[in-house]
Amino acid sequence: MPELPEVQTIVDDLNRQVRGRRIVGIALDWPKMIQYPAINKRQFAVLTCGRKILRVERRGKYIKFYLSGNILMIIHPKMTGRFLLENGEKPETNYRHSHLKFYLDNSKILAFSDVRKLGKVWIGKIAEVENLANFKNLGPEPLNKSLNLSKFIKLIQFKKRKIKQLLMDQTVIAGIGNIYSDEALWLSKIYPLTLSQDLTKIQLKTLLRAIKSVLKKSLKLRGSSMRDYRDIVGNQGNYYEQRLVYHREGEPCLRCGTKIRRIKIGGRSAHYCPQCQYH
Ligand SMILES: [Zn+2]
Repeated sequence: MPELPEVQTIVDDLNRQVRGRRIVGIALDWPKMIQYPAINKRQFAVLTCGRKILRVERRGKYIKFYLSGNILMIIHPKMTGRFLLENGEKPETNYRHSHLKFYLDNSKILAFSDVRKLGKVWIGKIAEVENLANFKNLGPEPLNKSLNLSKFIKLIQFKKRKIKQLLMDQTVIAGIGNIYSDEALWLSKIYPLTLSQDLTKIQLKTLLRAIKSVLKKSLKLRGSSMRDYRDIVGNQGNYYEQRLVYHREGEPCLRCGTKIRRIKIGGRSAHYCPQCQYH
């Protein structure tokens, strides 16, 4: 699933490519992706057509389209969702899973392709959508300067949960998933199943620094593409090739040479070095 660096890369590209464009038509063949409100395809068209895309923003793993007329449309790409800017004259055949398309006033098509159909859309007046529980309850942004050590300690230290799970909980911190939690824990030499309340202040300081640095590094490399993630012209991100521990099970630790292990944790996998991340 795309995490902060991948979603931010998409958002930056969208701002460069479709900001200021007007939506002149839509095609939607999977109306179930509309999570809120309960509307059909025609009503969705009424809400979007004729509106200008004023700007695109990211919050956590969500993509927010601010449209003219005070309308906010939020899209969550989930596992396999991707955007592609198609040239109207030559539709991209690779993207036959485009279940939602926006026809733009420059005759390009912004397509949302989603093989597994797990992507979700919310739309409505800005205040109304921002007040929905999904968005209102999101934790702070990890790259925001206001997320400093004292705030981070408050978020993490007194909770009695495994640190890996806590980092992936979007209501604690927004935008981190499986990849970057593994990477940040390896960088800070913390065992993924450590209970958050047992972490020292020094460990938390190291962890916060690791989170920020690994996210920034991936952002520079335009994210990580293991399977599905692509940017809006179909290119992969370059972080995956440079990953530290994620999906390196059985390979030598880049720090000490010990074989990387994988453990199951709440239905997800954590990758760690049993030597450096000793508990
Ligand atoms: Zn190691």
